This record gives sequence, C-alpha cells and structure tokens, in this order.
Amino acid sequence: MDARAPSIANKLTDGHGRQISYLRLSVTDRCDLRCRYCMAEDMTFLPKSAVLSIEEMAALAERFVARGIRRIRLTGGEPLVRRGIDTLAMRLGAMIGQGLDELTLTTNGMRLAEHAPMLAAAGMRRINVSLDTLDPAAFRHITRVGDVAVAMKGISAARDAGLDVKINMVALGGTNEDQLLPMLDYCASVGADLTLIETMPLGEIAEDRSDHYIPLHAFIAPLRAERAIYPVDRRTGGPARYFAVEDSPVTLGLITPLSENFCATCNRIRLTVEGRIYMCLGQDDHIDLRTALRDGGVGAVDGLIDRALAGKPRAHDFHIERESKPAVARHMSATGG
Ligand code: SAM
Ligand code: SF4
Repeated sequence: MDARAPSIANKLTDGHGRQISYLRLSVTDRCDLRCRYCMAEDMTFLPKSAVLSIEEMAALAERFVARGIRRIRLTGGEPLVRRGIDTLAMRLGAMIGQGLDELTLTTNGMRLAEHAPMLAAAGMRRINVSLDTLDPAAFRHITRVGDVAVAMKGISAARDAGLDVKINMVALGGTNEDQLLPMLDYCASVGADLTLIETMPLGEIAEDRSDHYIPLHAFIAPLRAERAIYPVDRRTGGPARYFAVEDSPVTLGLITPLSENFCATCNRIRLTVEGRIYMCLGQDDHIDLRTALRDGGVGAVDGLIDRALAGKPRAHDFHIERESKPAVARHMSATGG
C-alpha cells in the first residue's frame, strides 16, 4: 500500500463527528487586485519571515494527505502571484491517485492565461475563477485596478488548456444585480458553470458591507421571473446548492452563508500562508503549525492537527447588520477563500 494512502485510523474526524477531507491552502496573502468587499485599498501584507516557503507548504500538504485529506484547493490572496506556485502545483499534483483525489485552484484570472497550461500539466481538471461583472467600468470599480478583458482571456486560456471552469460571482446589491443574466449567457458561451456567493463580513474594508449585502433569493429574483430553475442533485462536499436553469446549459450554484447556514455538513479546514490552521472561516480560533514545523519537522505537527480538529466549531457566527463589526478581523484573503 502506498505510504500516503489514508488508513481508517488516519481519517480526520472533528469533535462533532464530521469527516474532514478537504483542505484549503492559502499560498499567499498578497493580491494584484483590491476587490472592495475583500480588501482595503492600502493593505499591510505579511513579512517574508512569517510566510511558509514552498517546501514547507508542500511538506504540510503531504502530511495532511497522509492523514486523510482527499481534496486540496490552492487559494489566497491571489495564488498565481506566489513565486514558485508552479513547483508547488506540480509537487501536490504528484499525489493525485496516491491518496489525493483532486487538486484545484481559485483565481482572479489576471495571470491565468500564462499559467493555465501549467495547471493542467500539474493534474488539475477544474478551477474557479472569480468574476463579479462583465462590464469593464464596473469591474474596474469593484476591483479598483483590474481589467475585465484580462480575466476573460484567462478564462479562454483555461478552457483551451482543457480545464473545467466555474465562475464565482459575489452578489453585490446596487452594483452587479444587472449582470446575472449577461453572466449566465457568457458562462454558456465559454462552457463554464456559475456560482453566486453572498458577501461575508470578513475583515475591515473602506465601506459598510451592509450597504451591498443582498440575500441570494433577492439577487436571483429577476432570473426567476424570466426562467424556471430546478434543484439538481450534485454533491461536491462544498456548501453550494445547485440548480439547472431553463434554456441554459449552465449549472447554477448558490452559496448562502448568511441567509441559510450550511455548517452542519462542513468537511473542510484551512491552512494559511503563515502555517495556521483555521477550523472555520467565520471564527478566530486557530492553531499554529509553523513553529512546530520549523522546530521539529513535519512529524511534529500531527498532535496539533488533532487538537485543531477537536476544536473545530459547530458553526460560524456571521451576521451583517448596519455598522456591525466584521465577524472576524481577518480578511478573506488572509484565510483563503
Ligand atoms: N484571489 C482569488 C480570487 O479572487 O478568486 C482567490 C482568493 S479570494 C479570497 C476567493 C473567493 O472569495 C473569491 O471568489 C472572492 O470573490 C471571495 N470573497 C472574498 N471576500 C469575500 C467576502 N467578504 N464575502 C464573500 N466572498 C468573498
Ligand atoms: Fe484579491 Fe481575490 Fe480578494 Fe479580489 S477577492 S482582492 S482577487 S484575494
């Protein structure tokens, strides 16, 4: 038997009996965009000494797979700005079929055109690309600096490289509600699926998030007025619920952390670029693996992983009222979305 294949004894189970099989690995807290709902304009990023090296990340990821993790998503910040991302992707991709079922990535698409062939060569089959609008001026406004044409070129390059693409669109009241139908048609034209996400209260930003929070049932109301949507049974182990859309090949996913909590079936943990395990996106509790890793090598982290799982909370604690503080001070870009 392969040394990295999980045995029953190695399965990761949390204190509430949920089996943990999915790791989100944040490979950098930096980003080449400044999306208004995610970051402040003048962010302070981590110093280099606080950040795990590519070798340290790979070693930890291998340990997690040996312990029973079966899917890894690389995220950030923007994962494709991390130097050495190709080395990391190749190294983790080598575990596919050797304990790891799937390696994926979430990106803003800015550097996707140059990296898509490498991602496919590393064994990725599907990726998520964040795209909140097709309108160039609105894209520039939301991201503060981005060019939507670059993201669209990246998406085409990913499709050309044979990758399945899912577009992530954050629902922003008063900003991109008019974009849902055009986005569905765009997804159909490039052969992508579409997932909508409610904006979550993570990290201080310049604006009051409640100004733009819109529950997804309201965001999709104009779509429902024109076309029927039907629930479909697609289990990904993630928080999305999926729907077929009348007259469209696009599968529509809805992620509703605020309006309909999904924590009961949570199967994931998150490892930040500082080497911290966050057991929940919406809670501050974490366990530091970096010190143990640097002092005692990768074998020294097992007990800490067990402690992290025992402490995984039952549910997040999000609420989004006017002028309320973020549920956690960390930005999504620090924990890894
Ligand atoms: N930079 C990459 C990207 O944008 O795809 C990966 C990291 S980003 C933090 C991952 C996902 O989180 C993106 O789809 C982004 O839209 C989403 N996101 C960021 N901040 C969010 C928030 N406060 N609420 C909901 N989604 C958020
Ligand atoms: Fe960067 Fe992604 Fe956050 Fe936008 S959502 S600022 S692309 S990390």
